[in-house]
Amino acid sequence: MSITIALSKGRIYEETLPLLAAAGITVAEDPEKSRKLIFPTNQPDVRVVLVRASDVPVYVQYGGADLGVSGLDSLIEHGGQGLYQPLDLHIAQCRVSVAVRAGFDYEAAVQQGARLKIATKYTTIAREFFAQKGVHVDMVKLYGSMELAPLTGMADAIVDLVSTGSTLKANNLVEVERIMDISSRLVVNQAALKIKQAKLRPIIDAFAGAITQD
Ligand code: ATP
Ligand code: MG
Repeated sequence: MSITIALSKGRIYEETLPLLAAAGITVAEDPEKSRKLIFPTNQPDVRVVLVRASDVPVYVQYGGADLGVSGLDSLIEHGGQGLYQPLDLHIAQCRVSVAVRAGFDYEAAVQQGARLKIATKYTTIAREFFAQKGVHVDMVKLYGSMELAPLTGMADAIVDLVSTGSTLKANNLVEVERIMDISSRLVVNQAALKIKQAKLRPIIDAFAGAITQD
């Protein structure tokens, strides 16, 4: 019975490597330098698959992978159905924020009860946030380069991930409100957890022991 682990390239992959190492798992080849999608590890019965960040919860939900590492942002948008979420890994930390073009008076618009046009990949998070605030919004769903939407006049504001704020700054945008803090979570297929318990438990425990809080 083999184990498949779903990860996404970039931040999450890099920061998951030390956790895998703690579980005695090393990936044989550098995925960032490869076009492959499936990577063997030093353990014959463990492999890593690389998918889009937003697809990690989907692969784990439907059993394409037994476990995965997913940003809370992707997890909320997915809904979490069929997923056991045992650990906050405290990696790939960032936040989801509202940003506007420099010069746009967001507070005034909110105060006046204006209808805001919001461009985002995170429609679930954004919808919930503005509903709580009692702000009416029109949502434009995008799949990337959210920063462009306010600059072209397509939206009043964006809801996007921010870490240092340098991307916003480079595009003359200003962070006006923090919606939530984000980190990545370990997600496990609920059926696999029962059936492959003997293989999965030690991996989950090793991850738990290797988490570094900050
Ligand atoms: P998607 O398939 O979701 O469109 P993508 O390739 O655009 O993926 P991102 O959304 O940029 O990838 O990042 C993937 C994940 O990494 C995010 O879900 C988030 O949890 C985390 N992440 C993104 N940007 C940062 C950041 N600047 N700092 C820390 N973590 C981040
Ligand atoms: Mg991206």
